[in-house]
Amino acid sequence: MKASAFSYTRASSVVDALELLARHGDQAKVLSGGQSLMPALNLRLSAPELLVDIGAIAELRGVAVENGVLRIGALTRHVDVLRSAEIAKHAPLLTDAIAHVAHPAIRNRGTFGGSLAHADPASELPACVLALDAVLLVRSKNGERRIRAVEFFTGIYETLLSPEELLIAVEIPVAKPNAVHFFHEYSRRKGDYAIVGLAASAIRDGDVLENLRLGYFAVGDKPMLATASEHLTGRPVTASMLADAQTALDAELDPQEDQQASAGMRRYLARQLMARCVSTLLDRQDLATRALV
Ligand SMILES: Cc1cc2nc3c(=O)[nH]c(=O)nc-3n(C[C@H](O)[C@H](O)[C@H](O)COP(=O)(O)OP(=O)(O)OC[C@H]3O[C@@H](n4cnc5c(N)ncnc54)[C@H](O)[C@@H]3O)c2cc1C
Repeated sequence: MKASAFSYTRASSVVDALELLARHGDQAKVLSGGQSLMPALNLRLSAPELLVDIGAIAELRGVAVENGVLRIGALTRHVDVLRSAEIAKHAPLLTDAIAHVAHPAIRNRGTFGGSLAHADPASELPACVLALDAVLLVRSKNGERRIRAVEFFTGIYETLLSPEELLIAVEIPVAKPNAVHFFHEYSRRKGDYAIVGLAASAIRDGDVLENLRLGYFAVGDKPMLATASEHLTGRPVTASMLADAQTALDAELDPQEDQQASAGMRRYLARQLMARCVSTLLDRQDLATRALV
């Protein structure tokens, strides 16, 4: 199938892009790396009248660290995230995760902001920004707003972005010296979308975890910050605490069934990921296979 007819314009600046989006509203679509939008157009899942290409706006690209905050421009490509020394140092979770996003050809064009704005519930990066407690900077002609990642994703391919708004950048607090992280996903082949995945971060003090943030993906219609983490913080983790956390996780999950996995399998894998995660964060092999039922 081919895309419906559309007009195309290349924005020369953020101001220019916002002007175009304000003028055309929901008849326009932002084009970043095109790795999700172009397939959607060709399948006629989306049929905008105008594509606003932001690919040439240099101010939307790049990585910087200032006042304890890592800022990643929305147009920063996946490959640049993968290679960034600043990101590897200050948000190593992203470096681990991005290697699982698609294949090199797609990572060469796909962008950080495009992945977040697209909001595929099986995507790695939305779960990472939940785990990292990121703030998303969003701008329209009428001004800027800052949205916490935990509020940004609202459903399958849905976010708080309005048609007139552009995702500008993402801000992430730099990792503290005793910060630990975990990333793992189950997928049929490397580079495929996940069947179930988990991106997590915490502060570790001996056998105690604090500020544990468990960002699950492919377990529902949007990435999920699991509140079951409450069972695992504030005191040395035991096998019984982990079992309680797994039970609590099961209660908050509502996974879908599809060609890749049943809901039951996703629940099982999510519990297993929790055990792997806690065992890795604490370097405790005794917890690795806890409650694999
Ligand atoms: C074969 C294949 C495999 C893939 N596998 C994976 C995978 O395993 N994991 C994964 O996470 N992704 C995967 N992807 C998707 C890939 O990561 C995309 O690059 C990403 O989802 C979208 O980024 P993009 O820059 O290409 O955005 P586009 O395709 O250009 O845009 C996507 C959507 O976001 C909107 N948008 C883009 N940028 C902005 C912005 N700055 N402000 C507001 N709205 C914006 C667009 O209007 C559009 O609706 C895969 C893609 C393909 C083709």
